[in-house]
Amino acid sequence: MKQANISDFCALEDKEYLSKVKEFFKDKKHTYFVETYGCQMNVRISQTLAGMFQEMGYVPAESKEEADAVIFNTCCVREGAEDRLLGNLGKLKQIKKKKPEMLIMVCGCMVQEQGSAEKLKKRFPFCSVLFGTHNVHEMPKLMFSALTKGERQVSVWEKEGDIVENMPALREKEASAFVNIMYGCNNFCSYCIVPYVRGRERSRRSEDIIAEVRQLVKEGKKEITLLGQNVNSYGKNSDEISFPELLRELNKIDGLERIRFMTSHPKDLSDQLISAMAECEKVCKYIHLPVQSGSNRILKLMNRHYTREDYLLIVKKLREKMPDVAISTDIIVGFPTESEQDFEDTLDLYKQVCYNSAFTFVYSKRIGTPAEKMEEQIPAEITKDRMARLIALSEECCLRANEKYLGRTLEVLVEGVSKKDESLVFGRSDCGRMVTFSGCACLTGKIVKVKITSVKLNTLIGEME
Ligand code: SF4
Repeated sequence: MKQANISDFCALEDKEYLSKVKEFFKDKKHTYFVETYGCQMNVRISQTLAGMFQEMGYVPAESKEEADAVIFNTCCVREGAEDRLLGNLGKLKQIKKKKPEMLIMVCGCMVQEQGSAEKLKKRFPFCSVLFGTHNVHEMPKLMFSALTKGERQVSVWEKEGDIVENMPALREKEASAFVNIMYGCNNFCSYCIVPYVRGRERSRRSEDIIAEVRQLVKEGKKEITLLGQNVNSYGKNSDEISFPELLRELNKIDGLERIRFMTSHPKDLSDQLISAMAECEKVCKYIHLPVQSGSNRILKLMNRHYTREDYLLIVKKLREKMPDVAISTDIIVGFPTESEQDFEDTLDLYKQVCYNSAFTFVYSKRIGTPAEKMEEQIPAEITKDRMARLIALSEECCLRANEKYLGRTLEVLVEGVSKKDESLVFGRSDCGRMVTFSGCACLTGKIVKVKITSVKLNTLIGEME
């Protein structure tokens, strides 16, 4: 796969383009604000947006209301994120009336989904720059054009292009970082809009990933989280190494202490991956494994390509090799045609796995997906009742799973001081649980041993050893 860097792309029309852009923004001390909706992939993209702003000489603003340039990095996976975006845009419209030079920009999945420039212009009348998921690297060029020509800039590439390497990124956490290993998705789960807005699967070259991780370690990062819509299919359809092999390569990097990854599609979770997880000491013994439903009928309608039996077998294999492995999941409640029996099957599977935690969602109809056209959408009062039952079960399992850590000593990577109580610090254990204990800010970025003395639903509480 051909790779390029940000300078190459910005300089497509003019070899001096990037320096022109930089020169234009130099010394202006403009401020920026990035607002992110959606998943970790979007969080990672926002780090690139912030990195590009800073490379142009922009400095962070305290709030979006005060900023000279605001960008909304959008999500269209669920309706809620769309509603929040539209509410926020409405508020900024009033501010822009008093501050006409303010640059309001929208990018990401929602822009990609809307497609045509005409639709976008109508929907976002006061936004100066709009771009899709495939051309994030164009932001400096589009801003420059919007400001110098005084014209609105819309750029939505219909198809994914080459992976752009060497983009700047502003990673705020002291000791941990997200690293993309692939983009897009080929799975077309029947409820999901992602393959339509993020394009087909493309894996980064392993040598680029390894070089990025080495560089992050040099900068002081101890933990990396590898990101992809389905990391288990990394390297497929290319001459790259497989995902388990990538984990083994990263495990060799001196100075790196923890490797996490998400998300894993159960249909692609191989025995080789389970062995790599068990044998690589830096790979955290934690996996996020979305099941979505415990009913074979619904799984088929969802186009998930596994059965509940396949899923339970994977969980068995994971626990055989790693008895302590923590498992979390995603579950959709109220998928079209979901019967009481289908839902009972989900509860039953949940009890059998007894997850450490779960992200539970009410099915959200997405225009353009096969599930949108399925008859028998489930009424809100039924999904509400099912959701309440699922949450009660997930809380019970979570507490039970947390209680297993009582009296044990966990290694915790400290993220910072608690906002509620300055005498406490918080961080994540190897098994992905949030842990709080007495300590000072000086522990931030360090891995310390903490003995767990009590547990709550979302937190383990302990004492530093
Ligand atoms: S695996 Fe399925 S749910 Fe996940 S991004 Fe791809 S299509 Fe969506």
